[in-house]
Amino acid sequence: YYQPQVDAINRNIIGCEVLLRWNHPIQGVVSPDRFVPLLEREGLIFSVGEWVMKRAIEQHLRWLERGYPPVRIAVNFSAPELHERGLATRVIELVHHSGIAPPWFKLEVTETATVKNFDQVARTLGKIRASGIQIAVDDFGTGYSTLSYLQKLPVDIIKIDQQFIKDIPYSSEDKTLVKAVIAMAHNLGLDVVAEGVETEAQAQFLRRHLCEELQGYLFSKPLRAEEFEQLIALQVSEIEEELTLF
Ligand code: C2E
Ligand code: CA
Ligand code: CA
Repeated sequence: YYQPQVDAINRNIIGCEVLLRWNHPIQGVVSPDRFVPLLEREGLIFSVGEWVMKRAIEQHLRWLERGYPPVRIAVNFSAPELHERGLATRVIELVHHSGIAPPWFKLEVTETATVKNFDQVARTLGKIRASGIQIAVDDFGTGYSTLSYLQKLPVDIIKIDQQFIKDIPYSSEDKTLVKAVIAMAHNLGLDVVAEGVETEAQAQFLRRHLCEELQGYLFSKPLRAEEFEQLIALQVSEIEEELTLF
């Protein structure tokens, strides 16, 4: 499934996060929170992760072929994938051989997953990033990161976890925290994405404090590829309409 990530100012779709679903014959759609830990435990996450990357890139290229502007795709990587040996080479080769321009491919790695073996993880991410692929620190704020940790981690984007967004604008603690995270990220030259944006008030608060991108049910839930394509088609026709008005 693909969930839109929109520009906080004009709300155009810039990219999407790729979110895995399992269509179980009896249980219906199973959430990744239930099956990703299983895949990790059984050592299957590596092949599933590779399949997700390939499918997402194919989808990106298909949308391009159909004439839509490029949609950046963000793929989640869990801790075991991040710590796998030879990961950087594998990801770089996959991306470079697939035909996607590297900046349109983004890896989301959780803050917690980067803490263990920090030096090795930083080297791996550094290689991947040097190839032009974007790196985002996911679930930011839920781990134990310090300023010096962030400074040393080769990343482009911080993704603020939804738990800090959900009580905005009512919780003044969360508002202060989110403002501080955005300011800190900008001082380090990083962009900020907020996840779990569900209300107009949250979107406005984030825009006012210069958060670059928003993601959440306010804009769209995760969609099947065909449904996502309808959204981008609508956006393209709206932009074309605006242009003809001038
Ligand atoms: P995550 O990376 O933090 O993904 C964001 C989760 O928030 C997704 O849950 C998404 O559906 C949900 N979400 C998005 N907007 C809103 C909103 O406005 N409100 C609320 N309440 N929730 C929102 P989902 O799809 O169930 O995924 C759960 C987790 O499973 C993800 O958390 C990610 O860590 C993991 N995951 C999903 N796909 C993959 C994958 O392909 N590989 C790996 N390794 N992990 C994955
Ligand atoms: Ca994510
Ligand atoms: Ca999250």
